[in-house]
Amino acid sequence: MDARNNRAVVSTAIQGFAPAIVRTALLAVLLLASMGASLRTANFIVETPDPVLTQQVSQAAEQFRRDLAIAWLGKTMPNWSKPCPLTVQAAPNLGAGGKTTFVFDNGEVFGWKMEIQGSPERVVDSVLPHEITHMIFASHFRRPLPRWADEGGATSVEHYTEKNKYRQILNQCLHTGRGIAFSPMFAMMDYPPDYMSLYAEGYSLAEYLILVGGRQEYVKFLDDGLKGDDWAGAVQRHYRRQDLGTLQNAWLVWVKEGAPLDKQLEVAPAAGNQLASVDERRPRPEPNLIYHVAQSGRPTVVPPAGLVPVRLPGTEAAASPETTATGSRR
Ligand SMILES: [Zn+2]
Repeated sequence: MDARNNRAVVSTAIQGFAPAIVRTALLAVLLLASMGASLRTANFIVETPDPVLTQQVSQAAEQFRRDLAIAWLGKTMPNWSKPCPLTVQAAPNLGAGGKTTFVFDNGEVFGWKMEIQGSPERVVDSVLPHEITHMIFASHFRRPLPRWADEGGATSVEHYTEKNKYRQILNQCLHTGRGIAFSPMFAMMDYPPDYMSLYAEGYSLAEYLILVGGRQEYVKFLDDGLKGDDWAGAVQRHYRRQDLGTLQNAWLVWVKEGAPLDKQLEVAPAAGNQLASVDERRPRPEPNLIYHVAQSGRPTVVPPAGLVPVRLPGTEAAASPETTATGSRR
């Protein structure tokens, strides 16, 4: 919906036939339109420069919170003790991105704050579900996740056009020695310097695991792995792979096939090597998900060595980069 057109209709109504009480309400809307609008729901306090967008984001945020909790956890979540301030900047050419901050303390999570931006479409269909997935994970796990799993799961609920960009970035990474072996990747609790590679590979692995077992199994796998940081054991118990190295190899075969989302993954994949060209100048994300928590200091179980760097088999040549996209990403 074009917000400017909507406001024009409201102005006409005020000058024409609206009764006094309606007129007052419409004047309030106009004031909100000129000052920016704020709307409070059970779990969010949404602020945008546009009352129409405020309404859309408010409804979408509560809907995503409900639907994504069911998708990931199999049930809805109780309301948070305090709603999350959610500020939105939207413009047609604004790069999609955002950050969510919160605090872990003694098994509790609170102090939510979300700031997002992008085109109105991407704000609602990609950035918002991404950030709310982070919040659902934080509410469920009550502790930090390995970054690949957090970002990977969050990215898996974005619009397919956004996810396709990460597929291309992953191909670039795997062609140029920027792939991250699963052993160190599972131990990363923060963003590495080349965090775009973590986003792309984390998304791809999350998509692969969700394809094998679904979203709720993904959460159970993370629950299991976080206990004692036993990721190799969790991989065995939930995905029937011997260890992280074996999982990595199976994932690489799937990626080499083009990461088909309709594939029966229990069947040994056939050979294939259709790799997309890539965009090396993709906008880099601003690492979002900022939280404050004491370091656990627990070591991660290390799988067999010799897996760094990760490359796709039979793809030694680097792909040609393109130089188009601009903007920021989460
Ligand atoms: Zn994120």
